[in-house]
Amino acid sequence: MKILVVSAHPDPRSLNAELAGFAVDHLRAAGHEVRVSDLYAMKWKAVVDGDDFPDHAGDQRLHVMDVSQDATLAERLTADVAAEQEKIRWADALVLQFPMWWFSAPAILKGWIDRVFTAGFAYGPAVPPPYSEGALAGKRALVSVTMGARETAFSDRGIHGGLQDVLHPLQHGLLWFTGVAPLEPFAVYGANALLDEQFAAARRELGVRLDGLFTDEPVPFRTLVGGDYDHEMRLLAGVEEPGTEGLALHVRGRG
Ligand SMILES: Cc1cc2nc3c(=O)[nH]c(=O)nc-3n(C[C@H](O)[C@H](O)[C@H](O)COP(=O)(O)OP(=O)(O)OC[C@H]3O[C@@H](n4cnc5c(N)ncnc54)[C@H](O)[C@@H]3O)c2cc1C
Repeated sequence: MKILVVSAHPDPRSLNAELAGFAVDHLRAAGHEVRVSDLYAMKWKAVVDGDDFPDHAGDQRLHVMDVSQDATLAERLTADVAAEQEKIRWADALVLQFPMWWFSAPAILKGWIDRVFTAGFAYGPAVPPPYSEGALAGKRALVSVTMGARETAFSDRGIHGGLQDVLHPLQHGLLWFTGVAPLEPFAVYGANALLDEQFAAARRELGVRLDGLFTDEPVPFRTLVGGDYDHEMRLLAGVEEPGTEGLALHVRGRG
C-alpha cells in the first residue's frame, strides 16, 4: 500500500523526528511504499495569503474559498501545494506525526492543512459532500501525537478533557470531514522526559498501530447519509445511546 508520513518538528533529533523515522522504516520493512513530508525540513510556508494564488489580482479582495477553488480547478495552485495534493491523492493512508502544542498541532502542520486541503480538492461544492462520501473517501489516517501531560489528565475526567475531544478538530473536522477514515489516535503521554524503556515501548506500540493501519477499525464516526442527522446537520433525537453527550454524540456506540 502507499502511505504518506507527514512530520512536524523543528529538530531532526527530537522524539517526534525519531518516531516519524521509525514509522517510515517500519512501513517500508513491511513492504509498503512510503513518501514523507517533513514540514520543517521543507521550510513549509504556513500561512494562506495572496501569494498562494498567482492569478488573483492584488487589488481585489481575497475571498479565500473562492480563489482556492478557482485555482484548484484550473490547476493554478502553487507548486508546493500541488505537490502535497499529489502525494495525498497517491496515498492510501496518511500518518500525521507531531507534538501537541497548545492542545493542537504545531502551526506549521495547521498551515499545511490550511494551504493543501483547498476548496475543490478536499471540500466545497465542486467535490462530493462531506464526511463518509467526502472528496478523499477510501483513505485512512493515523494521528500520532506526543504530549507533555500525563494520560490521566487526558482521561474522561482529566482536567485537559478527553483526548478524543481534544483531537476532534483533526479527527473529525479535517480527516472525517474530507472522507478520510481516522483510526484511534496513537498517543505518547508524559513525553518531555521518557525513560529509555518508555521510549522503546512507544516505538513498539507505534509499530503495532502501523501494522494495523489497513486492518484496524476506524473510529466509528456517524455518517451524514446514514439517517442519523436532519437536513440542518443536527443529530436526530434519540439516536444516541442513553447518557451520551458532547462530541461523543457523533460516534456510534460510544458513551
Ligand atoms: C509551544 C508548546 C506547546 C505545548 N502545548 C502542550 C499541550 O497543550 N499539552 C501537552 O500535554 N503538552 C504540551 N506541550 C509539551 C509537548 O507536547 C512536548 O514537549 C512534546 O510532545 C515532546 O515531544 P518532542 O518531540 O519535542 O520531544 P523531545 O524533547 O525531542 O524528547 C522528549 C523526550 O523523549 C526522549 N527521547 C527523545 N528521543 C529519544 C531517543 N532517540 N532515544 C531515547 N529517548 C528519546 C527523551 O527522554 C526526551 O527527553 C507543549 C510544548 C510546547 C513547546
